[in-house]
Amino acid sequence: MTERADERLERAFDKRTATALGKLGLQTVGDLLGHYPRRYADPGALTDIAALEVGEHVTIMARVEQATVRPMRNRTGALMEVVVTDGKSRLSLTFFGKHRGSLFNHEKRLVPGAKGLFTGTVGLYRGSRQLSHPDFTLMGEESDLDSDEALLEHATKPIPIYPAAAGIPSWKIQAALRVVLDTLADADVPDPVPDEVRERQGLPPRAGALRSLHRPATLEEAYRAQHRMRFEEAFVLQAALAQRRARTAAEDATARPPLPAGKSGLLADFDASLPFVLTDGQREVGDEIAGELASPRPMHRLLQGEVGSGKTVVALRAMLQVVDAGGQAALLAPTEVLASQHARTLRALLGPMAEGGTLFGAERTGASTRVALLTGSLGAKARKEALLQAASGEAGIVVGTHALLSEQVQFADLGLVVVDEQHRFGVEQRDALRAKGRVSPHLLVMTATPIPRTVAMTVFGDLETSSLTEVPAGRAGITTVAVPAGNTRWTDRTWARVREEVDAGRRAYVVCARIHPDEEAKAPAKDFDDLPEFLDPSGPGAEGASDRAPLRAVLEVVEELRSRPELAGIEVGTLHGQLPPDEKEAAMARFASGEAPVLVATTVIEVGVDVPEATAMVIFDADRFGISQLHQLRGRVGRGTDPGLCLLVSDAEPGTPAFARLEAMTQTTDGFKLANLDLELRSEGDVLGAAQSGRTSSLRLLRVVKDAGLIEEARAAAVDVVRASPDLTEFPELAKAIRAQLDEDQEEFLERA
Ligand code: ADP
Ligand code: MG
Repeated sequence: MTERADERLERAFDKRTATALGKLGLQTVGDLLGHYPRRYADPGALTDIAALEVGEHVTIMARVEQATVRPMRNRTGALMEVVVTDGKSRLSLTFFGKHRGSLFNHEKRLVPGAKGLFTGTVGLYRGSRQLSHPDFTLMGEESDLDSDEALLEHATKPIPIYPAAAGIPSWKIQAALRVVLDTLADADVPDPVPDEVRERQGLPPRAGALRSLHRPATLEEAYRAQHRMRFEEAFVLQAALAQRRARTAAEDATARPPLPAGKSGLLADFDASLPFVLTDGQREVGDEIAGELASPRPMHRLLQGEVGSGKTVVALRAMLQVVDAGGQAALLAPTEVLASQHARTLRALLGPMAEGGTLFGAERTGASTRVALLTGSLGAKARKEALLQAASGEAGIVVGTHALLSEQVQFADLGLVVVDEQHRFGVEQRDALRAKGRVSPHLLVMTATPIPRTVAMTVFGDLETSSLTEVPAGRAGITTVAVPAGNTRWTDRTWARVREEVDAGRRAYVVCARIHPDEEAKAPAKDFDDLPEFLDPSGPGAEGASDRAPLRAVLEVVEELRSRPELAGIEVGTLHGQLPPDEKEAAMARFASGEAPVLVATTVIEVGVDVPEATAMVIFDADRFGISQLHQLRGRVGRGTDPGLCLLVSDAEPGTPAFARLEAMTQTTDGFKLANLDLELRSEGDVLGAAQSGRTSSLRLLRVVKDAGLIEEARAAAVDVVRASPDLTEFPELAKAIRAQLDEDQEEFLERA
């Protein structure tokens, strides 16, 4: 087989072209073939100029309307101004020359009526948009496309528009591809999709698809080729995941079976002490997990569930089974607030069972253990003690943040790793923690919010999935209302409602998008606890943000609330990522106990904070948060038997995407529905990026929402192929594609790390 795809571009092209293509990250002929058109321009139609955005690198089809050359006013040289149009809007192009003569060539070519492609970065000069020194190629003129056939093609066929860069306009890429495609043999393009699979799916061979993608005769042909390449992406990814699953399934693990029925142990005692009955879902998923923990093969399971569906209890029961069987469990949380809260919750749920080795534990007749907490901000003494408890096995459960991943942390016998709120952790971190077991520990991953099935399959495709869809009975539900910002009547009513809640013995959260009032709206907080995407300037809600009122800030709002008549006599606390850990703890504790029943906070409280008495939440600048984040935040209230109230304060205008998000929030509390909607409203990269690092690079054409059906088909086909040849020796091209992709992901991960 030839290795045409691996041929360096320096060999295939002159040095200048190769260097220019290198700027786009293209090194080999294979890379060039894999540089797909972003879209196709209709040869007849002009680009909609009004839709161009300042700062964007664009390639547009336009017609020259007028061209003028004049000497520069204040210095030597000449300025040529060309106005191009799409028939409706205009865009000006400017060219500078040392003297008029140096612009002659442009003057000759850019005459009124000339039509062509222009490329450059859209700039703004005196309020109007322009391209400065754009590259261009004109139709009907000999240029880079210098054969009759090329011209004909240009005039009648869809024009591929490539992601381009300065010095290498789209049509140069097209011309380079033409050279490669003209001499490309089918055998030059190895296909990772095995023939049987391809034929069963009715897909064209890879070489043909590449030709159609880069040089389609019709748009339909281009779309068919895109479909085939999408399938390939999904198939390679799913085959990699299927292999990962198969490999894990073949690893050894220590079986941690439950104690025989009737024998007392931590799990049995815990179940007996529970103040509520488990939901059917908790019981079913619990049984499933119990069975897998009892197996000598490592469990690898994703537990996703509605906010408040009681995932923590499910995880704790799994941990207790492992501790009963002589092992230890580690619980990894994304923030310090959440880690210490988890430790507190687990200790409270376990009571004397978590006081092994102490007087209280000794008073118990049954088994006991300890819950250790390990975070980055622990003092030296506390840290040493926690490390010791983990290493000696005295602590059956070790809760922590990233600090758990550090090399100094050792376990006597790590049997189960639970990762809470997975979206903040990557596969690599999961693996780092699992590597701390002598043999592979079992793994339980919990997501913060429900995620659509195809996202689960793409991002967590190496895990088996369980879902908790119901929330425990007896919850009174949450009412969500959108509140216009800056409206006095609404504002007064808002704080009066908060007062009513507090008077009834309940608590209220007030959430702000930033900490300091004078902080740049765009500057994301540096503290890890505040790192979540909430201030992402490109994130949802950033649209047209500049001409809007500044974001409300924790420190400003807390002052305002302390002086509001409605809240007189009520202590108002604050919580944000810049507070030292002990103050964070204290603020949470005062809120939980009701000493400070109103808490003004950033999104530190987003994930997993659990105060059952909290019933009200006021979210300022609610339109600046994403749907899944609002859903998470809202999940903090209405967790007890009292009804919850969530007020979304915003100045979003009806008809904007921001408003649509808030409207959706007021209409449903179903996390799966919201997650799907979120996917529709947000871009792919956001979703995958938020879900997990290091997966986006490999997806070029695939869209996890739109391509759901295709992903399902690819997954089924991939599973068959991996089953037939687990090490893929029978499918060397697939194996090669997977290796290449892993390298790419790995690289991306290292770059981010
Ligand atoms: P999440 O799934 O969002 O992590 P949690 O595990 O924090 O939810 O549970 C939310 C609240 O519901 C907790 O206060 C927990 O004690 C309570 N809870 C869990 N399971 C049940 C149940 N079966 N019946 C009643 N309350 C429950
Ligand atoms: Mg939770």
